[in-house]
Amino acid sequence: MMVQTQAAHENRGLVEVLTQTEIRKKPPVNLVSRQIHPENTVVEVEGVLFGGPQFAVIAGPCAVESRDQLLATAQAVKSSGAAVLRGGAYKPRTSPYSFQGLGAEGLDLLTLAKEEIGLPIITEVMDGTELDLVEAHTDIIQIGARNVQNFSLLRQVGRSRKPVLLKRGLMTTLDEFLMSAEYILAAGNPNVILCERGIRTFETATRNTLDLSAVPILKERTHLPLVVDPSHAVGDCRYVCPLARAAMAVGADGLMVEVHISPETALCDGQQSLSPAVFQTLMDDLRLMAGLFHRVL
Ligand code: PEP
Ligand code: MN
Repeated sequence: MMVQTQAAHENRGLVEVLTQTEIRKKPPVNLVSRQIHPENTVVEVEGVLFGGPQFAVIAGPCAVESRDQLLATAQAVKSSGAAVLRGGAYKPRTSPYSFQGLGAEGLDLLTLAKEEIGLPIITEVMDGTELDLVEAHTDIIQIGARNVQNFSLLRQVGRSRKPVLLKRGLMTTLDEFLMSAEYILAAGNPNVILCERGIRTFETATRNTLDLSAVPILKERTHLPLVVDPSHAVGDCRYVCPLARAAMAVGADGLMVEVHISPETALCDGQQSLSPAVFQTLMDDLRLMAGLFHRVL
């Protein structure tokens, strides 16, 4: 009897080990995977289509600073052909002494800019407690690089009806990035736009290293649209335009670019912000390239 019990116990142990091994071997249910969803997901935001032939350009200041700054920048990027206006109201800053954004006042200015200029808005939510307010003001909810693995925030935006732009983290592998998007889809929100914004490497010549190889790899692995943010990747306005052009060539569905009416006086990320004149030349170049890469701009 003793012997039988011992054998049964050992057997149960073996079964448990095998089950765990099977679980580890089994691919998880992957809503983001192109294998189960071969067609591109096209995310629609007020007539702007991410993931189809359109090359959708999101542009605007790093942070909303004032009514005049936002409206002038919004007018400039719209006249150059931007499809969506960006602007941070809640800013994730490395130093607590740096400008942290205008908060709720910034959201009101974004709503005003949308009404006056007529572009849909994207802005970042940093904290779940601010989600209702941000959601009420924005057309796309941005999850910043530093929150890419804030799983409770991902679940919260997964319950939203608004599209989510999810930025890759500074140290996120592509598998981890896709799993973060999976959280949002699994919570019920299918409208996710991925954003490659550079990763931290040993190289110090640029703020981060733009991982352009992520673009064709992600486009192969997932049906979700993907845009490239060259501004936060290189952190220097001199290199933003060549990398923006490269992003179109390598298959991105659009861009996020920081533009400021007066980069030298910007309260945040002025060194990497394009002036309206330079942004205009970039858009002219992208329009010339678009036909070659089967894109509409
Ligand atoms: C931003 O886009 O405003 C931003 C802070 O970027 P990231 O989260 O990629 O650093
Ligand atoms: Mn910025």
